[in-house]
Amino acid sequence: MTAEAPRGPRDPFVDQAAGAAVKAADRAHVFHSWSAQGLLDPLAVAGAKGSYFWDYEGNRYLDFTSGLVFTNIGYQHPVVVAAIQEQAGKLATFAPAFAIEARSEAARLIASHTPGDLDKIFFTNGGAEAVENAVRMARVHTGRTKVLSAYRSYHGATSAAINLTGDPRRWASDNGSAGVVRFWAPFLYRSSFHATTEAEECARALQHLEDTIAFEGPGTIAAIVLETIPGTAGIMTPPPGYLPGVREICDRYGIVFVLDEVMAGFGRTGEWFAADHYGVVPDLMTFAKGVNSGYVPLGGVAINAEIAATFETRPYPGGLTYSGHPLACAAAVATIRLMEEEKVVEGAARLGEKVLGPGLRELAEHHPSVGEVRGVGAFWALELVRNRETREPLVPYNATGEAAAPMAAFGAAAKARGLWPFINMNRTHVVPPCNVSDAEALEGLAALDEALTVADGYTA
Ligand code: PLP
Repeated sequence: MTAEAPRGPRDPFVDQAAGAAVKAADRAHVFHSWSAQGLLDPLAVAGAKGSYFWDYEGNRYLDFTSGLVFTNIGYQHPVVVAAIQEQAGKLATFAPAFAIEARSEAARLIASHTPGDLDKIFFTNGGAEAVENAVRMARVHTGRTKVLSAYRSYHGATSAAINLTGDPRRWASDNGSAGVVRFWAPFLYRSSFHATTEAEECARALQHLEDTIAFEGPGTIAAIVLETIPGTAGIMTPPPGYLPGVREICDRYGIVFVLDEVMAGFGRTGEWFAADHYGVVPDLMTFAKGVNSGYVPLGGVAINAEIAATFETRPYPGGLTYSGHPLACAAAVATIRLMEEEKVVEGAARLGEKVLGPGLRELAEHHPSVGEVRGVGAFWALELVRNRETREPLVPYNATGEAAAPMAAFGAAAKARGLWPFINMNRTHVVPPCNVSDAEALEGLAALDEALTVADGYTA
């Protein structure tokens, strides 16, 4: 943040000494994810409400990241906070083998929104565990070991999940799960298939998948795991026929189709699940994040009737101490009910159609650094480039340090204007809470407008 830049709107809460103590204890004892610990300088956060959070210095930020894309109903929603408090007073914890009200009701509510016959819910503590268990279910169900996943993907940081992941966070741990094979999923803007239309991209991506399966041996493949709309990797909405095509291929070869909706699920895309946009029903669907807006860690796998039947009389070889934790499930029940009552999913669809989509496209018109705008609902990405013709990314793939400076400068400019942006490689993702107000969204777009001027300075 530059000294002369205007700061974000001020919040009355200022306690620099408290902030310094929080920061000092963090730096002394907290070991953070994905980071060189000695290079970290985390912002000390004093509080959050709705679409905003604030630090101890009095700076307030509009959160266009929803945490890590999980606060689909914003921070500190009083209804969900009260539900957690009430559950804590009633039954704060209980072992997973018993039937308890919060868990039963959470499973019932989730199953009422999942597509098709995905009616049984296995609860986990987050997204990676959901993916681990979906893969395990597919392997036991089919008796096969290989699992196919896409290069542009993120599925979590545990053993099988990180090996399925297509992004560079996999590289240091690429030694675990036998039988993971990666392929290219469709992404017209940077087509791996030299396609120039969505229809071409779709047909060629499906043919590439068919070829991969043929050369790997269809009878060796347990599952294909795809994010319905890849999130962290760039919010690439697939061409309309792609996921139905994958469904058909899976059916033909007896391969379990796993859709990972950890990021795209629970309203993010303007449908309860992104699969609903494409009329596709997977065999297994993973979820986490938005299921309870991340208020208490929770994830899970929604299981179809056929795979559930495999484990009717044969034990499922997996489990977790906190599977279906009462506090997490109570938060899910409250979140889902209020999403129904407050029409949060419909609101996210409208937000995308009426506010974010048009607003971001307008920004693209006068900022040469914006190569592409794509997304749906409250789930958008701006692809930032040095040159619109060549589509050279504003920073190279997986750039760090000096090479990543243009994105760092863009990020600093956004923060100086009171907007906390989501940045991944050469992209900024616009992923506010699904219930962000129109006025807040417009405030964020105005800050982005100014920050993009900084990115424009790196174009050629
Ligand atoms: N799958 C997807 C699509 C995700 O976006 C993520 C996290 O961002 C995960 C899995 C892993 O979830 P978690 O970090 O809760 O383990």
